[in-house]
Amino acid sequence: MVRTTPPRPVDVTAHFPELAPLARTAVRLHPRPGAPTAADSSIGGPLLWPAGEEWPACAEHAGPELHGASVADVFARRRILTEAWARPRAEGVNLLTADEKVVVDRVDHGTGIAQDGPAPMVPVAQLYARDVPGLPRPDGADLLQVLWCPFDHEDEGCAPRTALRWRKAAEVTDPLAEAPQPAAVEEHYLPQPCVLHPEEVTEYPAPHCLPAELRERVRRWEEQEDQHYQYALSVSSGCKAGGHGPWSFSDPFPLSCPDCGGVVTPLLTLATSEWDGTTSWRPVEDADAGGALFPHDNEPTMLSIGRSYNLQFYACADFPAHRHVTNMQ
Ligand SMILES: [Zn+2]
Ligand SMILES: [Zn+2]
Repeated sequence: MVRTTPPRPVDVTAHFPELAPLARTAVRLHPRPGAPTAADSSIGGPLLWPAGEEWPACAEHAGPELHGASVADVFARRRILTEAWARPRAEGVNLLTADEKVVVDRVDHGTGIAQDGPAPMVPVAQLYARDVPGLPRPDGADLLQVLWCPFDHEDEGCAPRTALRWRKAAEVTDPLAEAPQPAAVEEHYLPQPCVLHPEEVTEYPAPHCLPAELRERVRRWEEQEDQHYQYALSVSSGCKAGGHGPWSFSDPFPLSCPDCGGVVTPLLTLATSEWDGTTSWRPVEDADAGGALFPHDNEPTMLSIGRSYNLQFYACADFPAHRHVTNMQ
């Protein structure tokens, strides 16, 4: 099913023509739970990976033991909670059976699980160029893959350590049949397998990124007209490719390419939620979504990044093959 962002409440460039040249296209990915294959763009789906290529692993999370939850337990917990919240329940009756509670508690409290060597990273996203045609990419590459180590890393600003791969899909003639898995993960860093429904939208810079004089005029206009530039008119919400950076709790600070020192631009944003309470960015097709207590309709990937933040990936504007940088906002 296609996903369609509702029209913006006003055409902001009619009020501020100087914003028009700053417009950028973003591709909202609209992840929804499904069963993607390695031939599909996905969040949390299998990657098209050459059998002979080393799978990324994290030396900081190595054996003999990891503290967390097994991948199987994480998916079992989600299934248990989904079913439990959906079934009728008499007042005073426990939500979970005793057996179910054991699994849920094991995930929520974490346990020590034997890990042999460095923990393999987990697939987070895979984007075929056909789904994000405007995304700058190295010559000939048509597939972007993102993996991460599903634990907080202090030197990553308490976010996962990430790895990116660009490749030519046609060159993967002997694909890996089954990816290695870490013995344990942090539950909220294991994405639920989602298929994508890419949709192009137009974005304008977050207010923090506008020249001070323009930002002030926008602020006065917001007050007079009861508009919300930042949350309704500038940067879209949810997982997306390209577009503008969703600066939120901090003022923009310069990010630069670690290889050449050049300008970096937004490549991919992974979000905790696809839309917030105002529903301005909720696709029209999801207007009748059920309002389930678990999982929430606006959290299809079940990722939780910081305090409901976004993890942004930036790539070198001149040389897309250069190393990426990340920023949590
Ligand atoms: Zn790690
Ligand atoms: Zn560079």
